[in-house]
Amino acid sequence: MSESPKIVVVGGGAAGLELATHLGRCLGKHDKAQVTLIDATRTHVWKPLLHQVAAGTFDPAQHALGYLAHARWNHYRFRLGIMQDLDRVKREIVLAPLHNEQGEELIPSRTFSYDYLVFAVGSVSNDFGIPGVQEHCLMLDTKSQASHFQQQLLEALIKANTQKEALKDGQLDVAIVGAGATGVELAAQLHQVTRQIAQYGFETIQPDRHIHLHILDAGPRILPALPEKLSSQVQQELESLGIQVHVSQMVTKVTADAVHTDSGLVIPATIKVWAAGIKGPDFLAQLDLTVNHINQLKVHGDLTLEDDERIYAIGDCAACVMNEQGDLVPPRAQAAHQQASFVAKALVKRIKGQSFDKRYIYHDYGSLVTLGRYSTVGSLMGAITGSVRVSGWIARWVYLSLYKMHQLTLFGWWRTGLTTLARMLRRSIDPAIKLH
Ligand SMILES: Cc1cc2nc3c(=O)[nH]c(=O)nc-3n(C[C@H](O)[C@H](O)[C@H](O)COP(=O)(O)OP(=O)(O)OC[C@H]3O[C@@H](n4cnc5c(N)ncnc54)[C@H](O)[C@@H]3O)c2cc1C
Repeated sequence: MSESPKIVVVGGGAAGLELATHLGRCLGKHDKAQVTLIDATRTHVWKPLLHQVAAGTFDPAQHALGYLAHARWNHYRFRLGIMQDLDRVKREIVLAPLHNEQGEELIPSRTFSYDYLVFAVGSVSNDFGIPGVQEHCLMLDTKSQASHFQQQLLEALIKANTQKEALKDGQLDVAIVGAGATGVELAAQLHQVTRQIAQYGFETIQPDRHIHLHILDAGPRILPALPEKLSSQVQQELESLGIQVHVSQMVTKVTADAVHTDSGLVIPATIKVWAAGIKGPDFLAQLDLTVNHINQLKVHGDLTLEDDERIYAIGDCAACVMNEQGDLVPPRAQAAHQQASFVAKALVKRIKGQSFDKRYIYHDYGSLVTLGRYSTVGSLMGAITGSVRVSGWIARWVYLSLYKMHQLTLFGWWRTGLTTLARMLRRSIDPAIKLH
């Protein structure tokens, strides 16, 4: 009897986890294929929530999804590991040896063979080679980086609250480089959290006097993905909260205590966050595959690699052309979700020996930005109406529904309903922010 084909998905994020779930349910459950998901971490947190993890308004310990249990419920295998190499002739991927926190080797280097391989390894922050960024800036690429940010903020507040001498210039100030959705949402969350925190024993800190929040961007306006009117509306709202917005400021270097720009502006800040663009993980450029200038894998319209029709790339790590001008599908959760559904259909057809000659078309349903409890604004794309501006509870509801859609794909209606209820109950007994 011939063995069932092997599908290996590398990366269990917004795209890869949804894909493995679909494939497990459609193929793995009926032994039509052996589906394996590989990820560098043991648990999944939806990446658009990372700025909330950083601010302490979302506790990953309570809400993260454990891959092993999810794999068992959805008929795929999960393996922990970091992909580092690919042998296309043998059709094998190589995982790096795995070490524990003490540096002891837990698992030696391993190989996994595949008939079909999917790259869904996401992206990392792009520092554009600017001096000091790697050494002095925090990034929000992973759950552990976001948790590390939350700890740094908490420690800075605890120190400032108990120190005898007066607070130094910029001691509690935060500079966020990048005024896209991530930077703007993080700034609003931090404003909200630092105002709430005084209620929890941080009486010495006067947020309006002691904590200054800055957003910097090289572009002429914040939120370039939103229409100009909305972007200036959000800027006004941020400024009315006291958040300082610096546009047309190209960062030239970052030091331990400040961010410097090309116009000579120096912003003192102890905590500095880099959210100014993305690139594919560096190891992609080391493989024998065609990547663009930011390490994304070049794909055809059906999301197979230009180099190999047995290998797909989806989500942020894919360079997928979406129009005649050569623009790429943007690195967004909605693109990751759509591409996962597309490749799931394509692979199910291929495994069943049926033809599937469709091309992936990106549907832009609009962009929304939430300023925490202050407001949510954005534009939604309607087939007939074109771009429609939304705000208030409608915008908030659509924003939240994006995450609900992700959960529905992973858990189905029943479990998503229970999870939502459990979260509401916890919220009624827990503090609004994580204080440990
Ligand atoms: C703070 C923040 C806010 C955002 N907000 C929004 C938003 O509001 N709306 C929106 O549309 N988009 C938003 N985005 C962008 C969105 O999160 C991404 O576009 C989306 O997560 C991409 O999905 P992905 O599956 O390609 O990558 P990810 O979700 O990043 O998943 C990649 C996975 O690959 C794993 N991995 C990486 N390298 C390896 C390796 N070598 N071996 C094994 N595993 C590996 C990682 O552990 C990770 O689990 C936001 C991003 C951030 C950082």
